Amino acid sequence: MKVRFWGVRGSIASPGPHTVRYGGNTTCIEIRTDNNELIILDAGTGIFPLSQTLLAEMPITANVLITHSHWDHIQGLPFFIPNFIPGNTLRLHGGFDPVSGKGIEQVMSVQLQYSYFPVREEEMKGRIEYVTLSPGEPVQVGSATVTPCLLNHPVVDFGYRIDCNGKSVFFTGDHEPPYNIYDPQDEGYAAYQSLVDEKNRAIVGAIRGVDVLIADTSYTAEEYPAKKGWGHGTFATSIELAQQAGVQVLFCTHHEPTRSDDALESAFAKALSQRGAPQQGLDIRLAREGDTYEF
Ligand SMILES: [Zn+2]
Ligand SMILES: [Zn+2]
Repeated sequence: MKVRFWGVRGSIASPGPHTVRYGGNTTCIEIRTDNNELIILDAGTGIFPLSQTLLAEMPITANVLITHSHWDHIQGLPFFIPNFIPGNTLRLHGGFDPVSGKGIEQVMSVQLQYSYFPVREEEMKGRIEYVTLSPGEPVQVGSATVTPCLLNHPVVDFGYRIDCNGKSVFFTGDHEPPYNIYDPQDEGYAAYQSLVDEKNRAIVGAIRGVDVLIADTSYTAEEYPAKKGWGHGTFATSIELAQQAGVQVLFCTHHEPTRSDDALESAFAKALSQRGAPQQGLDIRLAREGDTYEF
């Protein structure tokens, strides 16, 4: 299996001289199975440069898995160039939105409203298919099995586990580990804590044993208290998740948009020095636009 990062930035695209090493595009990750089937995790602005490379291998079938409907994870979809060329297929997978009562087709139709984008879906020459997924129910995508797992974010967010030929990768999308909203002296604390423990156990179980975990690592431990409840993880929570699930390689991603390359590297170094007894064999890396990892 091969992983390539096309967008590693959270919230908003952040190009410029201070982000040139790690990249400014928002979330998009290309996965290739051993049979070279194409799976794309999220469609942030990084999907635009990815789509330009796909022109060399048309006709293509792109299996896009959307973690959730926040802009930084979908805003590249209208600019996915193969959509404009006959013979290509975009198969868009994602969850049901309980707020709108609509399936994953919503993330495309909202963006293609005529006030916001000049080309209507009916005018696109490629084929676009929609597959609305349910948590915990695996689907077959070519030779890979994809299992969506409900994570913790202000909107429905699916983490995706992809298993293929004995290899596996899990991507969280945006995720803040569930925590107790009560104080320990409050009446509801104990009951809520067992709910939190159960949720965290289910999440660790869904990730258990993967070769590669790509996790939302937006904040430092120092920044987190002011951002609690926004739905994002920290270096410490991502490392803990990787250790609990026994993964081989952790990629920290969804970098905070104001963080420069130098600040990102020093925040990462600090987080590594602050962690407790490091788990034997866990390889922890910063996701960087353009990097490829094969396993
Ligand atoms: Zn995000
Ligand atoms: Zn989000």
